[in-house]
Amino acid sequence: MENVKGTCLCGKNQITIKRYGNFIYSCHCDMCRKMSAGPVMGIDPEKSENVVLDLVEDSVTRYRSSEEVERCFCSTCGTYLYWHHLGRDHYCFNAELFPGIIEVADFGLQLFYDRKPAYYDFANKTKRLDHNFQETTE
Ligand SMILES: [Zn+2]
Ligand SMILES: [Zn+2]
Repeated sequence: MENVKGTCLCGKNQITIKRYGNFIYSCHCDMCRKMSAGPVMGIDPEKSENVVLDLVEDSVTRYRSSEEVERCFCSTCGTYLYWHHLGRDHYCFNAELFPGIIEVADFGLQLFYDRKPAYYDFANKTKRLDHNFQETTE
């Protein structure tokens, strides 16, 4: 896919991914679950060269959730937009911003599976990595 467009709930903030396939992962870490009321469904376009951010600066809030990571939200509608590793300039986005990607999604990876609380489980057969990025079958 080329020039895949995504927006937050209110539409003020738009993001374009220049090139992407259909890969979607979930993150079960404590921070993702707390900020979004459940696991985050994400896409990983990697470097910033692959991303065009069209953000309304007075309608976004950036939160430094750890030393090198910033999370960005629409401050009008509250939608989680992205995770940005500042040192590596690596972006991951809320997959649900992008209808064109989720229509054809291949859900292939669950991250921090060992942090997942027991009350939910996805039935999908995916690769599952713990917080040390080691594969787990639990
Ligand atoms: Zn919004
Ligand atoms: Zn996470």
